[in-house]
Amino acid sequence: MTEKKINAVEEKARQWLTERGVTLNDIAELVYFLQVKYHPNLELDTCLENVDAVIAKREVQNAILTGIQLDLLAEQGKLEQPLLGIIERDEGLYGVDEIIALSIVNVYGSIGFTNYGYIDKQKPGILEMLNDKEGDKCHTFLDDIVGAIAAAASSRLAHRAENVE
Ligand code: MG
Repeated sequence: MTEKKINAVEEKARQWLTERGVTLNDIAELVYFLQVKYHPNLELDTCLENVDAVIAKREVQNAILTGIQLDLLAEQGKLEQPLLGIIERDEGLYGVDEIIALSIVNVYGSIGFTNYGYIDKQKPGILEMLNDKEGDKCHTFLDDIVGAIAAAASSRLAHRAENVE
């Protein structure tokens, strides 16, 4: 097969990320942030490659579609209370956003969990923007999803580097 057919799920997942203000380059920069201390010669292109491979996985696309859909419905006021308020306020004890994100982290094994926890605390780059509660956008699910994609891509990169070295 010379040409990869992008299905409707993958197409929508990629389109929604872009429409919600997240480029693959933004996520690649998070991977760079996580991995450059272990791989000093790391290039952003390598990070980008790994982000793209993570997003090509169906489990990841499912999480992206589910999370962004809930953010959108919350923005439009189309969820019922009390869930609407919980998601709008991004309540600390809610935690379902993190659970959906973990289905992404899971794809590349346990090393991803450490990266996910770390990046969620540091909130570098695009994560700081998504975490900003000002304005009328809801990113309760998206911030965790983006952090999880970066964590999974970091694990993939680390595993591959290990095989090469
Ligand atoms: Mg969240």
